[in-house]
Amino acid sequence: MPFPKPHLESFENPLRTQMAERYLEQHGILEDTLRVKSPKAKVEDIRLVHSAYLIESVEIMSDIGSGQLGEASYASPDLFRTASLSVGGAIKGTEMVVSEEVKHAFSLMRPPGHHATSSNSMGLCYFNNVAIATHRLLKKNDINRISIIDFDDHFGNGTAEIFYTNPDVQVISIHEYDYENFGQGHYAEVGYGDAKGTNINIPLIETSPNASYETSIERVIGPAVKRFRPDIIMVSAGYDAHYADPVGNMDIDSQVYWRFGILINELVDEINARGSVWALEGGYNPFTLGPSIRASLDGLRGKDLPKLDDQIEREIYQHIIDANKEVIEKVLETIEPYW
Ligand SMILES: [Zn+2]
Repeated sequence: MPFPKPHLESFENPLRTQMAERYLEQHGILEDTLRVKSPKAKVEDIRLVHSAYLIESVEIMSDIGSGQLGEASYASPDLFRTASLSVGGAIKGTEMVVSEEVKHAFSLMRPPGHHATSSNSMGLCYFNNVAIATHRLLKKNDINRISIIDFDDHFGNGTAEIFYTNPDVQVISIHEYDYENFGQGHYAEVGYGDAKGTNINIPLIETSPNASYETSIERVIGPAVKRFRPDIIMVSAGYDAHYADPVGNMDIDSQVYWRFGILINELVDEINARGSVWALEGGYNPFTLGPSIRASLDGLRGKDLPKLDDQIEREIYQHIIDANKEVIEKVLETIEPYW
């Protein structure tokens, strides 16, 4: 949010989306896309996921123009409107895909949403954009199952919590995980009750390279979505696992973001889903956010991997790749009994 003075969290600022949009414009990426403005989400839609107390707190602190709503989620003037627009972007994307206006939609909006739980704002997130759009979709008669793929650097704890008991929503989060100071996001979290097996965590080790993401896509993410056969795929598109990101500690580049685009377009075709809706989550280097999103959009359109400046030679640590292979085996061992 636009903070009155520099703050530790000020990396989540308007420059991110402004520079990304300018990059996409300058490189002609938006020429064959349909661009629409986000409408403001209705409070009744936000209520599908969030407590009245949370919604009112955001509104009150927005009016005051400052304050802290939760861990690393600060209020600033106009926050409520901005957060409602960000939810609206995700909802608009689902509407355009369901009405077959487009096959894929991307909401280039902020603030992000995947850390927000039903009753808590946190981690720069106020309302869970993807979760709200997903809940709203499930109210439509012909949408029965939805997969959410979250490739942000961080664990999508809010989304996991919101759908933890819902068998109709598959939540797959691939993220950086600290096995020494461990927390939520472990692969042992599989969902509860009827929903067991629908929550899939791929907790990779710090400084994971492209190869570990590639293996996760091939072994876990692709097969899991094919088995679940969702009617639509939602994507929590966070770009902070990029090696140049100031927040995340992973070591991937735009090739992985292109790969996710290719994967999701192919999955949609193969399982005959309606399409996919992407909502921006993290990604805090304004110079790499544009190229990273561009790579995803090229992948979604089935284009070849674009050669981008961030695809430079970097040192590869074989022990990280090996350790991640073990993690991926553990993930499969844990979730396959439910398939
Ligand atoms: Zn993140």
